[in-house]
Amino acid sequence: AKPIVAVVGRPNVGKSTLFNKLIGQRLSIVEDTPGVTRDRIFADCEWLGHTFLLVDTGGIEPKSDDVILAQMRRQAELAIQSADVIILVVDVREGMTATDKDVASMLRKSGKPIVVAVNKCDSIGEPPAEFYEFYNLGLGDLYPLSAAHGHGTGDILDAVLEHL
Ligand code: GDP
Ligand code: MG
Repeated sequence: AKPIVAVVGRPNVGKSTLFNKLIGQRLSIVEDTPGVTRDRIFADCEWLGHTFLLVDTGGIEPKSDDVILAQMRRQAELAIQSADVIILVVDVREGMTATDKDVASMLRKSGKPIVVAVNKCDSIGEPPAEFYEFYNLGLGDLYPLSAAHGHGTGDILDAVLEHL
């Protein structure tokens, strides 16, 4: 079976933008409204001769009683369970949030390999100071990313392949 790579993180960090950039098409809906991706979306992704199934997920928002957010969380949990590698997307503009920490601890419990993509690092060169906060997630290496511009996707895919 093809390996599964799931893109997870809280709403609005840029998961669907990354997903679209990686598959080279605009299959997933990108919206300014947090949590607009309500269904899991799958696509084949190829990098350096390796093919895997990339899964976009709705955001994980653990502290909500909202029904839709709860469903999105459930879907993300299912994606995490079926994944061989997880790309955790965080947002350097917002900095590290309590939700990021919750998601990180959920991911740590899964025991799956995790690649942390620090998105919205839009300017080339040294990442902003907030980038380094995310080392506190305790998930190891950080990969600066601008999903919007496409910077950093190659290093992320390289890191994913190391775990396949
Ligand atoms: P999701 O909820 O995690 O799937 O996030 P989306 O991909 O829908 O993106 C949420 C918002 O962040 C949209 O307004 C995107 O245009 C914006 N966004 C995504 N990636 C980047 C990026 O690399 N830089 C900047 N500045 N904005 C981004
Ligand atoms: Mg989305």
